[in-house]
Amino acid sequence: MKINIAQLKKELGSTQSFSFRTSAEELGLDKEQLFLSEHVIVEGLITNKGMLFEVTGEISTRVKQCCSRCLEEMVTLLTAVFSEEYREVDFKESREVLDLEIDYFKGDEIDITDLIRETLLLAEPIKPVCSETCRGLCPKCGVNLNVNTCGCNLVKTDPRFAVLEKLLSKD
Ligand SMILES: [Zn+2]
Ligand SMILES: [Zn+2]
Repeated sequence: MKINIAQLKKELGSTQSFSFRTSAEELGLDKEQLFLSEHVIVEGLITNKGMLFEVTGEISTRVKQCCSRCLEEMVTLLTAVFSEEYREVDFKESREVLDLEIDYFKGDEIDITDLIRETLLLAEPIKPVCSETCRGLCPKCGVNLNVNTCGCNLVKTDPRFAVLEKLLSKD
């Protein structure tokens, strides 16, 4: 994902938009591990800030995940925003002087592949649910309570009342 900024370099303060359509494989991401499916859409803007070029945008993709309650597979839309500054490497500059917090580029192209990959790696959603009303799995017998019912008594009984219950059930 290289962006040619030859035109952008000519005018301070100017902006240039970009968009890419890529995939998990192209980004070198483990498809199984990340559950990424279909396409990864990247849209953004580069701003010429003189010494630096600011790259901002949004990534959107559909991810295959399992509901954290019932474990059913589902597809959700994942979006993640990114913002990074790139500085052109001055050939006279020695490598030791370079600030590791800033990304560098040479010539007229900025490669944002690493930025997109890292943003996606950090954007993995946590604990998705297929529905707010998902009843999940029965912790005792494991049936999916959205489609089945089970005979397990899930009402937690206070141990102090357990004795009383026993006495009552004898009658
Ligand atoms: Zn669910
Ligand atoms: Zn059960």
